[in-house]
Amino acid sequence: MIYLDNNATTPLAPEVKTCIFDHINFYANPSSLHALGRKNRQLLDNARQQVAFLLECKPQEIIFTSGGTESNNLAILGSLPNSPGTKNHIITTQVEHPSVLETMKKCESRGWKVTYLPVNKDGELCLSSFTESISPKTFLVSIMYANNETGVIFPVEKIAKIAKEYNALIHVDATQIVGRSAFSASNFDLLTLSGHKFHSLKGVGALYVKTGVRIVPIIHGGKQERNIRSGTENFHNIIAMGQASHLAKTLFLAKISNVKEMRDNLQNFILHNIPNSTINGINSSRLINTMNVSFNGVLGEILVRELSKHKIYISHGSACSSGGRDPSHVLKAMNLDWGLILNAVRFSFSIYNTMQEVELIKKILPQVICKLREIPT
Ligand code: PMP
Repeated sequence: MIYLDNNATTPLAPEVKTCIFDHINFYANPSSLHALGRKNRQLLDNARQQVAFLLECKPQEIIFTSGGTESNNLAILGSLPNSPGTKNHIITTQVEHPSVLETMKKCESRGWKVTYLPVNKDGELCLSSFTESISPKTFLVSIMYANNETGVIFPVEKIAKIAKEYNALIHVDATQIVGRSAFSASNFDLLTLSGHKFHSLKGVGALYVKTGVRIVPIIHGGKQERNIRSGTENFHNIIAMGQASHLAKTLFLAKISNVKEMRDNLQNFILHNIPNSTINGINSSRLINTMNVSFNGVLGEILVRELSKHKIYISHGSACSSGGRDPSHVLKAMNLDWGLILNAVRFSFSIYNTMQEVELIKKILPQVICKLREIPT
């Protein structure tokens, strides 16, 4: 089988699997004072250091959560005052993950004014639309590092600099960039991570909270994680994510040029050998593992199912909401023709793919497209 849906979730790295199995019987509560508890506390602290190494920050700036969705909710709801004062404005984009967009709706219902920045036909965020929107009234800017559907990378470093001039907090959803490009959290106030996007387990993530940034909990209880995120720590998931963070900073980045080679090879093949194909976002700076492509006359959903019969696993838009079958809000925001939107599929690679797999896809994909194009819709 060929798995090319790594923006939806990634397979476990073998080193991460070993780490989980090696500690599977470490059941003690890290808050217990006895030796077993203290051992697990040490392992948690070690994982915190590994995540801090990845983000180039201090270990105490890492708060473990249940994943990207919770980290985004915590960053936004936890950083805003209960009710808006004179600084009553938030800036985000139209193409964020639902965990940001739905949280923004909640903020609007509490009286916050939210600006949803548009993107252009290439999926790029125009910096001038940001500078026109920001004002002394802006409290928070929440913008993703890279888009999960198109892979388009946003100029978050430049945005952070401008946000600072207006004394606005900057939150970055870095869920898709880990292990795919080098970056540092230090330019931001808040930054979201999700373990299962970089070869760790599902149900674990982290929020980077820069020293001095005030954040209140959205989950209340036993005061774990500096009283920012209560609940007995998800021990095995956290140590797995620690291990994956170490790999992301070392092994994954070292092998990333292979990933780009595979993506570009398939992309060039499609452009030259499958007529009427469009790579959405091709003119933008993109994640090197991602390709969003529309094959004219072939519904994305049908192509995903057909390739699945050949054990080639890709995705139709995003798998971020259950079912994931609504037309993509990201491609809609790019103002693409309806046909391009409905026909879009996403190939997303990881370091565990191989060139042999790409060669196999190059044999199967044209046949499948040809067959589907012959079927009248
Ligand atoms: N942000 C982005 C950009 C994502 O792609 C995802 C997952 N698809 C999330 C947040 C949510 O992460 P999680 O699945 O860990 O809740």
